[in-house]
Amino acid sequence: SLKGKTAIITGSNSGIGLGVAQELAKAGADVVLNSFTDRDEDHALAAELARDYGVTARYIAADMSKPEECRALIEKAGACDILVNNAGIQFVAPIEEFPVDKWNAIIAINLSSAFHTTAAALPMMREAGWGRVVNVASAHGLTASPFKSAYVAAKHGVVGMTKTVALETAEEPITCNAICPGYVLTPLVEAQIPETMKEYGMDRDTVIREVMLARQPSRTFATTEQIGGTAVFLCSDAAAQITGTTISVDGGWTAL
Ligand code: NAD
Repeated sequence: SLKGKTAIITGSNSGIGLGVAQELAKAGADVVLNSFTDRDEDHALAAELARDYGVTARYIAADMSKPEECRALIEKAGACDILVNNAGIQFVAPIEEFPVDKWNAIIAINLSSAFHTTAAALPMMREAGWGRVVNVASAHGLTASPFKSAYVAAKHGVVGMTKTVALETAEEPITCNAICPGYVLTPLVEAQIPETMKEYGMDRDTVIREVMLARQPSRTFATTEQIGGTAVFLCSDAAAQITGTTISVDGGWTAL
């Protein structure tokens, strides 16, 4: 059980982050939800988790595109045994048309935020004598697709940083790993469907079957619960010697 452990999950008011928070709470961890929005419904999500799983759950607003807010999130939480770097955005365009502000935002949110939160959290993990860093990378941390230069660069970066942090903590009871999901049907993926339809000139069902799940041999979306369950496993004693590696949850994508 993760009872007594505090888990901070960045970007966790929807999709995979929320699924991971739910599974960690189910396993007994106190959870800190995060996004930049700070709406009533964000705080309500935390209250719901606390009620459903009998844990302490808080929502702390912080914009993961801002270095100082990344670090402030960890400081405000006051404890961080489990850090799940999950916040991420996507933008799809050929590289010569890729807007510079989108490139910068993707690198900041999908890659640099994990640098800042990890730097702030490791001293707390050392103090506590135990820690888990779980980075939500992607199959795009191991392979590429056209039109996703910033996302693929950021996710490969996350995988590289995961290995480095694992080496820097190798002799301590701290691990750092990355989960590499294939396609999970979340708001992030939903939002890509119209652009991909335009890019390929296909209808919705054809884009899902022929473009998105074309790379996923199972032809089935992974679920947020499965990503959450993988995070719980990485926090278990069975995973204590798993560090500096990636776990793909991609229906066979990276086997192709
Ligand atoms: P999502 O859009 O449902 O969730 C993204 C989360 O990030 C939201 O909670 C959002 O509030 C948060 N966020 C965005 N910008 C932020 C900012 N500036 N500051 C703080 N929070 C911010 O998307 P998702 O599919 O759940 O994606 C979560 C992670 O999983 C991302 O890192 C994504 O790259 C990764 N991923 C998703 C898939 C997939 O198929 N859905 C596959 C592989 C990897």
